[in-house]
Amino acid sequence: MTLSFEASLTEADRLEALRRLDQFRRWHSLDDKRYCLCCRKIINGWQVRIVSGSTDSAPLRLVCPTQSCESIPMDWVLPTGEMLATMSILPNDAELARPPLMESPARKNGFKTRLRNIAGSLKRAGAAPA
Ligand SMILES: [Zn+2]
Repeated sequence: MTLSFEASLTEADRLEALRRLDQFRRWHSLDDKRYCLCCRKIINGWQVRIVSGSTDSAPLRLVCPTQSCESIPMDWVLPTGEMLATMSILPNDAELARPPLMESPARKNGFKTRLRNIAGSLKRAGAAPA
C-alpha cells in the first residue's frame, strides 16, 4: 500500500498545484470556490482532486472531487456572476436588461398583422348580418 500522492501534499503544495494546473481561473486560496458545470456542485480548493498521471513523467491533473464526475478546470466557473450568466438563474433581470431592439421587427409586424386580420374578420362578421 502506497501513500496517495495527494495525501503527501502540503497546503502550500496544493495551492501551488491548483494555480499551476488551472490555467483558466486564478486560485487565491484553497477556500476559493468553483461551480462544476458537469455535476452542478460547488467545490473548493481543498476538495479538488490532484491526480498524478499514469506514469511518473505524466503531468498532474486537477479533477472534480465529485464521485463519477471527471470534469477538469475548464468546466469550473466562479460561483458568482460567471455562474449566474451561465445558468441564467436571474431570468427577470435578464428580461429587464434585454434591449427592446432584441425583438425582431418581422415578428412584431407578424403579430400586428395577425391582430389586424383578427380584428378585420370580427368586424366583417359583425357587419355582415346573416
Ligand atoms: Zn463535477
